[in-house]
Amino acid sequence: MLERQTKGKNTLQFVPELVYFEPDALEYPKGRRLMEWAESQQLPIRMTSSHNRITGFPGESELEKYKIAKRTLVVGVRKTLKFDTSKPSAEYALPIATGCMGHCHYCYLQTTLGAKPYIRVYVNMDDILEAAAGYIAERAPDITRFEAACTSDPVGLEPITGSLKEVIEFMGRQPLGRLRFVTKFHHVDSLLDAEHNGHTRFRFSVNADYVIRNFEPATSTFAERIEAAGKVARAGYPLGFIIAPIIWHDGWEDGYAELLRKLGETVQAEAAVDLTFELIQHRFTKTAKTVIGQRYPKTKLEMDEAKRKYKWGRWGQGKYVYPDEQANALREFITEQIFLRFPTATIEYFT
Ligand code: SF4
Repeated sequence: MLERQTKGKNTLQFVPELVYFEPDALEYPKGRRLMEWAESQQLPIRMTSSHNRITGFPGESELEKYKIAKRTLVVGVRKTLKFDTSKPSAEYALPIATGCMGHCHYCYLQTTLGAKPYIRVYVNMDDILEAAAGYIAERAPDITRFEAACTSDPVGLEPITGSLKEVIEFMGRQPLGRLRFVTKFHHVDSLLDAEHNGHTRFRFSVNADYVIRNFEPATSTFAERIEAAGKVARAGYPLGFIIAPIIWHDGWEDGYAELLRKLGETVQAEAAVDLTFELIQHRFTKTAKTVIGQRYPKTKLEMDEAKRKYKWGRWGQGKYVYPDEQANALREFITEQIFLRFPTATIEYFT
């Protein structure tokens, strides 16, 4: 099993093992800066005609290739500037990266990225932000919310790209634009002085200790995430927590009560103002179950269809969620614990 990349008790910043560049990316300042950085780190560098077609990863087995792909950075130009929708947390997904170095067993990127689990970052930020401005103008005078973590974990990549700070400051200047993202990483320091103007909601993904220990290798620890949450709250960002995936396990009541107790103790009073929670129960598709079984064959993730309720999908295949009785028990208990520790918080949804 993959472990956290740690030094002492600290989760280290991600450094790829292999970097690809599209030639066009080098026509942009960010592309050239990333090339200089990769050279200074003495990383193996390859060129590629398209960031969407990387093949031939080193490794004997599919699993080894997958692990190398997750540690491969591809620097390219984002051509599709039509944004996907991102319900229920935002109107649009804002694409600054695709792929993630984390190894969360349940992550939906396992299936949505299919055979392309490598990490793509985009250098044409001006084009991406111009497209965002267009979407904001279309919906005026309504506010338009953008989610920057639909296909990646942007905080984990921020020390390399600096792109998230650009988006935060862009949204800070937009009277009708708002940004949201969620992270399992703690590398927030470069974002603390960003001129966010209160327009970015910084959310941390948190969970019961059992879930973090068993299913979230190669991400920051709970303690690191919480410390980072305190820092961003003190930097004046609206703060949120996503508890996801909520997993029914032996001792789940103690696990989630302990999570809320620790959050209550460590997140300072200033963070409790305008605090939001989003609650997402664990779900899986048949395809996800197959892929997870191949990539994390020893996972303890429970995916027994017989113990779940089938929820039909609107466009694609349906998902297996917890039966109503279990889902309600999880929702009611966690809601109670949230209000016990944070009486003025808002729970945005349970799904
Ligand atoms: S940190 Fe988020 S995006 Fe990355 S693997 Fe884990 S769940 Fe997926």
